[in-house]
Amino acid sequence: MQNFIWIFSLVIAVLIFIVWLIIKILKIQSSVKRQNEIEQIGKDGEKKVAKILGKSIPDRQYIINNFLFTDENGASCQIDHIVINRNGIFVIETKNYSGIIYGSKTQREWLQVQPYKNQEKTFYNPLMQNDTHIYRLSRYLNAKNLFHNIVVFLDNADISNVSTIAFSSSAIPSLINMNFGFILSAQQINDIYYRLLDLKKNNRISEKAHVKRIKTAKYKIEHNICPKCGGRLVVRNTQIGKFYGCENYPNCKFRKEL
Ligand SMILES: [Zn+2]
Repeated sequence: MQNFIWIFSLVIAVLIFIVWLIIKILKIQSSVKRQNEIEQIGKDGEKKVAKILGKSIPDRQYIINNFLFTDENGASCQIDHIVINRNGIFVIETKNYSGIIYGSKTQREWLQVQPYKNQEKTFYNPLMQNDTHIYRLSRYLNAKNLFHNIVVFLDNADISNVSTIAFSSSAIPSLINMNFGFILSAQQINDIYYRLLDLKKNNRISEKAHVKRIKTAKYKIEHNICPKCGGRLVVRNTQIGKFYGCENYPNCKFRKEL
């Protein structure tokens, strides 16, 4: 009888363990699935905008999607889209966020509200994020006034509460055809395009620049901004534990401990 009780307890313990294990695995699976979904949504948005922008036309308009480069300080940077045409250099940051978006030009953090999910999330001001990209490119090209900072939200976002320039994707064609008081020649357009392609290959870094980069990166990390690409650092719950990961994963693999 005692033997039976002992075996019975053991079986119960094993069963409890198995149930616990299954729950654990299911939880991990769903969080990985959710993470993949978020990444896919971002990529889908970039694809839609790339489709709207279309193909490059030599001497007239060049489109560069997913432009990754390292600046003279060794900081790497990811730009969703660059359009170069007679009207200038359009640096486009795409946000495929759903819900209602609140933000202004000077607000450091913008807000995404999803009423049906009862969820609120803040994210780093995309205009500021883009300004960082433009600053780096303008220093490299030595052409500050040719840039246009464009933040695009896809159709599933309500941006009527954003009190600054943010556009829906349908506004892109008219935007890039708008005149801003100057006209670039075919020569200038080509020159900018090929210099940007050169930048992609440039990768050098000095000791001094490295130290500076670390200081800047530290500040950004403290404010949940990815020091590598300027993206948001969001909490990731994965098999290897919880941590802050970059919203631009897998293009950017930066992570920070919780
Ligand atoms: Zn990043």
